[in-house]
Amino acid sequence: MTDFTMKTDADGVAIITWDTVGKSMNVMNGQGFLDLEALIDQALADDAVKGVIITSGKEGSFAGGMDLNVIAKMRDDAGDEPAKGLFDGVMGMHAILRKIERAGMDPKTNKGGKPIAAALPGTALGIGLEIPLACHRIFAADNPKAKIGLPEIMVGIFPGAGGTTRLVRKLGAMGASPLLLEGKLNDPKKAKSAGVVDEVVPADELIAKAKEWVLSGPTIVKPWDEKGYKMPGGAPYHPAGFMTFVGASAMVHGKTQGAFPAAKALLSAVYEGALVPFDTALKIEARWFVNVLMNPSSSAMIRSLFINKEALEKGANRPDVPDQRVKKVGVMGAGMMGAGITLVSAMAGMQVVLIDQKQEAADKGKAYTADYMDKGIKRGKATEEKKAAALDLITATTDYAALAGCDLIIEAVFEDPAVKAEVTKNVLKVVGKDCIFATNTSTLPITELAKASDRPEDFIGIHFFSPVEKMMLVEIIKGQKTGPRAVAKALDYVRQIRKTPIVVNDARFFYCNRCIIPYINEGLRMVAEGVAPALIDNAARQLGFPVGPLQLVDETSIDLGAKIARATKAAMGDDYPDEAVDEVIFWMEGEGRLGRKSNAGFYEYDDKGKRQGYWPGLAVKYPHAEDQPDLIEVQHRLMFAQVLEAVRALEEGVLEDIREGDVGAILAWGFAPWSGGPFSWLDIIGSPYAAERCDQLAETFGPRFATPALLREMADKGQSFYGRFDKQADAA
Ligand code: NAD
Repeated sequence: MTDFTMKTDADGVAIITWDTVGKSMNVMNGQGFLDLEALIDQALADDAVKGVIITSGKEGSFAGGMDLNVIAKMRDDAGDEPAKGLFDGVMGMHAILRKIERAGMDPKTNKGGKPIAAALPGTALGIGLEIPLACHRIFAADNPKAKIGLPEIMVGIFPGAGGTTRLVRKLGAMGASPLLLEGKLNDPKKAKSAGVVDEVVPADELIAKAKEWVLSGPTIVKPWDEKGYKMPGGAPYHPAGFMTFVGASAMVHGKTQGAFPAAKALLSAVYEGALVPFDTALKIEARWFVNVLMNPSSSAMIRSLFINKEALEKGANRPDVPDQRVKKVGVMGAGMMGAGITLVSAMAGMQVVLIDQKQEAADKGKAYTADYMDKGIKRGKATEEKKAAALDLITATTDYAALAGCDLIIEAVFEDPAVKAEVTKNVLKVVGKDCIFATNTSTLPITELAKASDRPEDFIGIHFFSPVEKMMLVEIIKGQKTGPRAVAKALDYVRQIRKTPIVVNDARFFYCNRCIIPYINEGLRMVAEGVAPALIDNAARQLGFPVGPLQLVDETSIDLGAKIARATKAAMGDDYPDEAVDEVIFWMEGEGRLGRKSNAGFYEYDDKGKRQGYWPGLAVKYPHAEDQPDLIEVQHRLMFAQVLEAVRALEEGVLEDIREGDVGAILAWGFAPWSGGPFSWLDIIGSPYAAERCDQLAETFGPRFATPALLREMADKGQSFYGRFDKQADAA
C-alpha cells in the first residue's frame, strides 16, 4: 500500500490523494516522495489528464510535515561522505518539487504544461506547505483550527525543500521573515492575508473550487520563471531590499545572539539566494540546509525538542497501569499557582473544585480564568461560549465537602509544611480511596509531606512552573513510597492539559530548581568577584539562555532567593557551600531591591516596569575588577554550574532518563536550546574535554566544579551520554 493514490475523473482532472498509512496526519518519508513523483510523471505523460489536484485523505489536515526521524537517520545512512549524501538527497527533493512547478512547460518559452493545484483541508506544516508552494495555486479550506506554516526553525533546522527560496520569492524577504525566522503558524484566513495561500474556500467546496480553477485554463508559470522577475520588496542590492536585509540581519542577531546556527544559515540562504536565478538559489538553500544538518546542534535539537519530547508526552516512562485520566480535580489554594492550575484544568475539560480559606480568595482564583478568556476573546482566540464552558466547570468555594468525587487533588497552598500537612489530612477525610493527592511544592521534600497521608503510595509531587498557562513543562516527583498508580495519574493528567512531563525522584530541589539555582548562584558569585554584570548576563544570552542569571533573579524576586538560601542553610548546616552568594543576595534584600516586583533590583526600572540598565549602586558596593575574565570563561562557569548538577542528579538516581534531563532543562528554564540540553551539550563538547575543563575550573574556582565520578569514568572510556545510556537512546 502506498501513501499516494491517483484517480482521474471524467473531466480529465487527476486527483492525487495523500493518505499516510497508519497515521492520523500525513507525514512525508523517502518512499512517499518517490510515490508522489511517479504519479506526477504519470499525470504529465497522460494526454487524457488536463490538470492535477494534490490533496489529503485525512479529515481536517493536509500534512504535519517531514518525518524528522527520517531526517535524523538520513545523515547516519549517508556513509563516509554524509554531507555529500545529504546534499544529493536534498537536491533529489528539489528535483521532484521543481518537476511539479514546471509541470511539463517548455523551459525556453514557458509554453505548455498542466496546472497543478494544492487543496488543503486543514493543517499544512513543513513539507506539507513546501509541496503546495511548488504547486501553481493553493486552495485552503476555511477551517479555523488549521495551522499553516513552516515551523522548522523551532527544532533547529529551516525549510530545506524549497520552502525558504519559494516563500521569499513569493512574499519578499520582509513578508517571509516572520514565517521563516519565527516559524509563525497561521490559520487559513491569516495565511491568505500573509500571501502564503491563494484562496480560502468553504471546506465542502474545496475540491470543486480547485477543479474549477484547474479547468479554467490558468496561467501557470511562476513569477520567478518569467523574464524580468523582481523580488517583492527588492533584492539585497536594491535600495529598499538593502534596508530589509541589513535590518533582518540585525534583528536575527539581536534575537538569537548568534547562538542558533539554523537562524544564521537561513538568513545566508535567503540573502545569497536572492542574488541568483531560482535554480541556483535552490542549490544554495540545499548547501546551507546540509550545513545545518551536519551541525551537531541540529540533531541534538531534533532529538530533544521533537523525538524525545514527543516520546515523553506519549508516556515513554508511564508505568503499566490502566487509564487514569482525570475527571474531577480539586485545587487547594487559589493563589498565583492554584489559579493557573485551575485555568489549564478547566480548559482541558475537567471539573475543578477550587478551594481557599476565604470565599473572596477562591473567587479571585476563578476570576483568573475569566480574565484569561477575556484576553483570548479580544485577540480572537477564544469565544464567549468557550469562556462560559470553562467557568461552568469551576466551583470556587471554601467547603471541603465539594471535593467529594475528585480523583485528583493538587495542593498549592503556602509553602509551609505544617499548613500543607493540615490541608492534606482534611482533604483525605472527604475524598474517596481512589483519589491521588499531589503537591505543587517547589522546595519541600515529597517524602516528608507524604507523611501527612495514610496512603503515601497515593501521594506525589506535580510541580508546575510559573506562569502555569505558559510554561510547557511539568515536573512529576516520586516520593520514596509513591506507587505506580499515582505516577500514571500524574502523567495522564499532564497529557490531558497538553504539557510535557518529566518524572524524577525526590531530592532537594528535585531536578529543575536544582540546576537553575547554581546557574543563578554562579552569576551572583561573579558579581561579588567584580565581574561586570553586563558581561555575566550577556554571556548567558549569547549561550542562548532567554535571560541572564541577574535578570532571572530580578524576575523571580530577590526575597524568594533569600528565603530559599536561609532554608537551605538551615537544612544543610556546616555543609552549606554558598556563603559568597548569600552576601550579595542578603545585601540586595537589605537595600530593598527585591527585583521587578519592587521596580528595583539588579536593574533599574521605569514607572512602567521597563528595564533601564544596571543599578549604579551595585557597582559602588561591588566595584568592577580591572581585569575582566574572558567571555568563554564566564560562559563555561555558567554552563558547568548547571550541567554538573544535571550529571549529579543522574548519578544519584534523581533523574532516571537523560532524555528527561535534556527536555526538562530546555522547557523549564530555557537551557541553551541549540545544544539539545545539558547531556546533549556534554556530548557535543565530548566527555574528555568536559572533564579536563572541570578540573581546571575546580582548581581556579573551587570544588563545586569537581568532575563527578560518572563523567570522569566516561571521559576515561571516551563515552558519550547518549551512547552510554543507549537503552533510552534506542527507545527514542
Ligand atoms: P500564593 O501565596 O500566591 O497562594 C497560596 C494560596 O493558598 C493563598 O491564596 C492562600 O490563601 C491559600 N491557602 C493558604 N492556606 C490555605 C488553607 N489551609 N486552605 C486553603 N487555602 C489556603 O502562593 P503560590 O505562589 O501560588 O504558591 C503555592 C504553592 O506552589 C507553594 O507550595 C509554592 O512553593 C508552589 N510553587 C510556586 C511557584 C511560583 O512560582 N510561585 C512555582 C512552583 C511551585
